[in-house]
Amino acid sequence: AYLVEAERLSHTGSWVYDIQNGVPIYWSAERSRISQFDPQNGPPTLEQYRALHSPEEWSKLMNAFARAIRDKTDFQTDATEVLADGTTKFLRIVGHPILNAAGEVTELIGSTMDLTERKQASDALRKSQANLAHMSRLTMIGELTASIAHEVNQPLAAVVTNANACLLWLDRASPNLDEAREAVRRIIRDGNRGSNVIARIRDLVRKRQYSCAPMDINDIVREIISLTQADLQGVTLQLELTENLPRVPADRVQLQQVLLNLVINAIDAMKSVTRHPRTLRIQTRACEGHAVLVSIKDSGVGLNPNQMEQLFDTFYTTKPEGLGMGLSISRSIIEGHGGRLWAEPNNGPGATFQFTVPTADQSTA
Ligand code: ADP
Repeated sequence: AYLVEAERLSHTGSWVYDIQNGVPIYWSAERSRISQFDPQNGPPTLEQYRALHSPEEWSKLMNAFARAIRDKTDFQTDATEVLADGTTKFLRIVGHPILNAAGEVTELIGSTMDLTERKQASDALRKSQANLAHMSRLTMIGELTASIAHEVNQPLAAVVTNANACLLWLDRASPNLDEAREAVRRIIRDGNRGSNVIARIRDLVRKRQYSCAPMDINDIVREIISLTQADLQGVTLQLELTENLPRVPADRVQLQQVLLNLVINAIDAMKSVTRHPRTLRIQTRACEGHAVLVSIKDSGVGLNPNQMEQLFDTFYTTKPEGLGMGLSISRSIIEGHGGRLWAEPNNGPGATFQFTVPTADQSTA
């Protein structure tokens, strides 16, 4: 009685299979219940038992039996039964051959565990985990879209403002061409900034083909300075560009992107600074003869030690409207060029970001 109760509780039935006649000769009550047979009727016929299985399932089961009989070893196998009412049962079967005095296998004895509920629970769990992963991806995309919309909208709004200003300067009785020209320059800068945001995102989702050409890194620095002229108001710029640097094989647009990121970050970091002068120093120099080093030093809020680890992580940002992609993309661009990008706190206020790009001899080596 205890055993019957234990079998019922654990959804485990026991059985004996007669090898000689190839039929089940004993099914416990629980074994019958698992397959929706009436326990009163004893074990099913071989045909009734076989009918619960698809041909593949049946041959898998019979193979497991045959191997146990041939090798005289215990066996374990999983089986799927489809019952009279259409429900599917997932079962784990373990068995053991019983030998006679001559050492021949006469019977298989075993137990069958009904794992259906457990399997359904783990399927449900797996499904909800997948749903959760999908949800968090959707949330992330939602947040990302909002930040992108914001980052693109800012330069667009600035373009419209400057275009209106430009019209006003031109519409005057005596048009002020200098002011108009300045407004157009700002339009170009903001247009570029907007398309850089898009380019960064595009690069994130697909690997862009590099167009590698030898270039003077100072040219790129000068281009970025002219693009950010308006943002640099109130900032003292110190340019220390070493002339006649070796040329580096690089993708111009990508290096521009890196420099623009670092310069904008430096300017952002100095926005709240009022107690000391805002200084941006951009230096270029040869580095140990095989690379060119660019360093961007600001006198902004600086970096605290806890930040150092995360700075370059995607989506790490301390800005309310930040994307947190600039540094991670910049680093992957620089590493794509065979160089290194890192950050250091200054002795005084602010931070220094530096990167290297190997020269031609080095990167082809
Ligand atoms: P975002 O500018 O969108 O925040 P970034 O990846 O470019 O993304 O920068 C990540 C974070 O690194 C910034 O939010 C800021 O906290 C920090 N950071 C970057 N540059 C500087 C800097 N020059 N000084 C201080 N903190 C910086």
